[in-house]
Amino acid sequence: HADLAMYKSKDKGRNNYSFYSDDLAEYAQKRADMTAALKLAIEAGDQFELYYQPKTSVLTHKIDAVEALIRWRSPNFGMVPPGQFIALAEETGLIVPIGLWVLKQGLRDFLELQREGIQLEHISLNVSNVQLRNDETVAALKDVIAASGVAPDHIELEITESYIADDVNHAIGVLQSFRDMGVGLAIDDFGTGYSSMSYLKKLPVTRIKIDKSFVDGLPGSEDSITLTNSVIALAKNFGLAITAEGVELESQLVFLEQQCCDQIQGYYFSKPLPFNELKDYCRSSLKHSSKNSNVIQLQS
Ligand code: C2E
Ligand code: MG
Ligand code: MG
Ligand code: MG
Repeated sequence: HADLAMYKSKDKGRNNYSFYSDDLAEYAQKRADMTAALKLAIEAGDQFELYYQPKTSVLTHKIDAVEALIRWRSPNFGMVPPGQFIALAEETGLIVPIGLWVLKQGLRDFLELQREGIQLEHISLNVSNVQLRNDETVAALKDVIAASGVAPDHIELEITESYIADDVNHAIGVLQSFRDMGVGLAIDDFGTGYSSMSYLKKLPVTRIKIDKSFVDGLPGSEDSITLTNSVIALAKNFGLAITAEGVELESQLVFLEQQCCDQIQGYYFSKPLPFNELKDYCRSSLKHSSKNSNVIQLQS
């Protein structure tokens, strides 16, 4: 469909225009089409869906949290992964209404889990830099949190290093105001952006997420080991919790456990799941005996 259309217009372009101008025109057209489709999606309200990726406690090997990850089912473009529309939504400002929808829906779902007896430590939600840049959009986030019925200490917002690097002092003020509400704050993809290392001590955050690109090289690559261990040591020194993302292999899990990482997220335990499948996953994970209770069972 979209890809085929692109090839077709390239063929046409071979006769009429240079490749370069044709590609630019195509790019601009595709961008405009996607922006229009995103606006319609926001109005329609039923094209977005939240998937949830389990986050597993290293201590118990049970699910202890989830991260909400948006999916867009577009009538024109099919299933669009966030990597293909979040940046555009940020550039056009559409991330503001989309982000509010994510927060509302995520907290609604979390409340439903609680009502059904599924008790998790927290739900994590990705928040874009754009949403944190001005007082109005920050206040809108806080209003949703306050009205949600979910206790703020069960809510964790994932922010990026680039947000902090943009304007450290402004970021500290905004982040502190969320901490004052009791909301947890994680730095996502830590180590990939401008390094926040120099001002990590000053930041009112509660968790660091080690990026998948570090985890990928574990346990074989010396560089990955050095980087991962440095981030873990840094986080521990500042009293922060640590999540490793993108864990796919048992050998990675074993390594991270030995280094006292707190929480594991990745395909090794589960891919992001539709909400209904998440419920089944939680029930089964929380029912089965944990690593530690296995030990107790063996001893008794
Ligand atoms: P992220 O927040 O770092 O989320 C982790 C991404 O890595 C997710 O991709 C997840 O599916 C993927 N992942 C997790 N474990 C593994 C693994 O073991 N192997 C591999 N290969 N991948 C793994 P996804 O869902 O495509 O999201 C991509 C990015 O889009 C997210 O990265 C986040 O930056 C952004 N995003 C997603 N949902 C939202 C949202 O609601 N709001 C905002 N602002 N951004 C979002
Ligand atoms: Mg994230
Ligand atoms: Mg991440
Ligand atoms: Mg990532």
